[in-house]
Amino acid sequence: MKKLFCCIAVCYLFIATQALAQMKQVEVAPAATPRQPIMIQGPMPIEAEFFAALLDDVHTEHSGNATFYTGTLNGYPVVVAQTGKGLENTAAATAIGITRYRPRIIINQGTSGGHDPKLQVGDIVLGARSVNAANFKTPHRKAGEGSAPLNWLPMDLMASAGSAGEGDSAAKAEKARFYAGDKALLALALSLKDTYTHGKVVTGTIGSGNFWNNELDRIAWLHDNLGTSVEEMETASAAQIAHAYQTPFLGIRILSNNITNQGHYDPQTARACQQFVQTVVTAYIQQLRQTAD
Ligand code: SAH
Repeated sequence: MKKLFCCIAVCYLFIATQALAQMKQVEVAPAATPRQPIMIQGPMPIEAEFFAALLDDVHTEHSGNATFYTGTLNGYPVVVAQTGKGLENTAAATAIGITRYRPRIIINQGTSGGHDPKLQVGDIVLGARSVNAANFKTPHRKAGEGSAPLNWLPMDLMASAGSAGEGDSAAKAEKARFYAGDKALLALALSLKDTYTHGKVVTGTIGSGNFWNNELDRIAWLHDNLGTSVEEMETASAAQIAHAYQTPFLGIRILSNNITNQGHYDPQTARACQQFVQTVVTAYIQQLRQTAD
């Protein structure tokens, strides 16, 4: 009898492990199809609707706070995801977008605020890397001692997410985590910089957080300590989720404002950014066709 129970238990265990392995495969490595779409993300309507209007045969789908426009650009499938603003909306829209549409690449684009006085409103930053610029741990202070944001320590929420036994040691967790932009996409976008006429196109670091910083000392601190070129509220969260699903990712952000050099907010920049992204996507589709020949 005992033997029979043992046998049944082993069988269940085997079936459960197989099922788990299969689930994991589906989750972590989306099956490659010959025409996996290109996904373009933008947070606000002004950062997504211009691109959505470029598509042919558009269908609109909603999920939570996100709107997905599926269609084709130059005959190739493209999904424009209007994610909504901020880290949470973006992370959710990225996870839903990846599992639902299995994109071959994701470009997160839109407006941002300059941290680098050398960058003007209208310039574009290609995200060689992105970082969450709102994850911090404060050193201890007693009641009445106030708050000193320039002494805050970066905090890596993924530090203990590795293999079992990897502790949440202070040394590991008190570091900023940077997500590198996909090298091939970055090189392609950079090769097209001379086509852009509203400013310059540079590579840099995109800092994201549910924060709109207007304190010049805070901005200088982020620029010096995290190396941020610009700040906005989405790229690093999309990069984190794209990375988790092994989906090639690049952030492309235009400066709509830069208080480090009196650059006033210009919402027209949202359109110029999408136009540059259109150039990048068109070149990417051409590349795909050439490699398929
Ligand atoms: N005037 C706009 C403000 C947008 S709020 C409106 O209310 O419609 C923030 C959005 O703009 C986010 O999606 C963020 O990514 C982007 N953004 C642009 N400049 C920013 C800055 N200086 N700091 C933070 N987010 C900024």
